[in-house]
Amino acid sequence: MHEVAVMSSVIQAALAELEKHDVSAVKEMVLVVGDLTSLGEEQLTFAYDIMIKNTSLEGSRLVIEREEVVLLCSSCGYDGPADTLESDYHEHTVPILSCPKCKGSVKVTAGDACRISSLKIVGE
Ligand SMILES: [Zn+2]
Repeated sequence: MHEVAVMSSVIQAALAELEKHDVSAVKEMVLVVGDLTSLGEEQLTFAYDIMIKNTSLEGSRLVIEREEVVLLCSSCGYDGPADTLESDYHEHTVPILSCPKCKGSVKVTAGDACRISSLKIVGE
């Protein structure tokens, strides 16, 4: 499961951060998950709940925010969301990675990664 590997590195990063700030109790972790990552929310939450046992994150809740894909076209300068393919086989729509205006090649500027957006500390 891809989600387990991703979640493992997310949790390690969070724990390292908590240690730096001498925090021992966390209420909530907000994780931003890009639509291009194809990470399942259920699987992420499942992995999270297992992996936080006996860590400073134990008892906290994982909140997942989806991030839409944003493209930047090198030919016409288009900067915005991708066109998507509707598909019955995916939970989410599948973004098309070419410029919606000129079909030129694009750079993905958002939605291709997952990152911790915030950690809410107990007592705040
Ligand atoms: Zn373009």
